[in-house]
Amino acid sequence: MLVLRVITCTRPLSYRVKSLYIFLSQNRSVKRAIRTIKIALLGAAVGAGLYFAVEATPKASRYLLCHYKDDEIEEYVNENLEEIIAQQEEALGIHYLTRPTIFFQLPLEWRIDGNAMYAAGLYRPEVNTIYLNSGMLSHPAPDVGDLLAMTFTGLTNNVRDTLNHELGHFYCDYLSETMKMRDWPASYPGMSIGDAIGIRLVSEGIAEYFERKSTGNEEDHFSDADWPKTIDDFSTGQDVNVDVIYHGGYHLVKPIIDKQGTRGILYLMYFPPKKYDLLQLPKYQQVLLQQIEEEKFKMPHGL
Ligand SMILES: [Zn+2]
Repeated sequence: MLVLRVITCTRPLSYRVKSLYIFLSQNRSVKRAIRTIKIALLGAAVGAGLYFAVEATPKASRYLLCHYKDDEIEEYVNENLEEIIAQQEEALGIHYLTRPTIFFQLPLEWRIDGNAMYAAGLYRPEVNTIYLNSGMLSHPAPDVGDLLAMTFTGLTNNVRDTLNHELGHFYCDYLSETMKMRDWPASYPGMSIGDAIGIRLVSEGIAEYFERKSTGNEEDHFSDADWPKTIDDFSTGQDVNVDVIYHGGYHLVKPIIDKQGTRGILYLMYFPPKKYDLLQLPKYQQVLLQQIEEEKFKMPHGL
């Protein structure tokens, strides 16, 4: 008997499982349970499929849209650029003597970079050029295509807002060149991350100021209590912390430009926060305002 039991027990596992399955499936309540499990599994599979479709569609759409040049956006910009600049000159009390070159797609290397392709626009100081991601931009009065783009990507920007922002970058670079200084924002090999963050904070803060002042949406939702407590929190690992750099940047530069206009912009450009200022930005802001009032540094005639 012992020998037989040993032999019995050497049946392949799959055979035993199958026998068990056949035995159980004769039982009605077990049959019902199996059907329920199958339906649940099918439901889970459909759910997972939908989830991945919803997750993947915006990414695929954004990839396609950032390779698409929207002629209507180009037409809108060509027709309205002078009016947009005139409105900005009046709102900010500035004057543009020259115009930027504008392209209606991001540079190729940005279009194929998974993170960079999300940018609505970009300014390159070395070529005085604004790049608009026209496929992802919408008209101030959106048409059906814009609404579809918004639905599929979950994100589109109003071309007018984006242009007002990028013009802010262009104006700073233009000011710098007017003063026979180099392109701005400047970067140089070996620049520390902390110093680069300081420049980015001022650069995006000024561009946000141009956008918000021109569109009349000047509210400042950032407060001093929102500043990061560590240098690491100024970035997210791969890129800067957008909330801090854009909203915080605006919060930082607003009182300075409100009070000092172009002189304030120049001081910010040439005395941006250094690494050691990043954890005490309210103090940096206060000291800079005081220095401008005391005319600590000589500015070019008329500024
Ligand atoms: Zn910007």
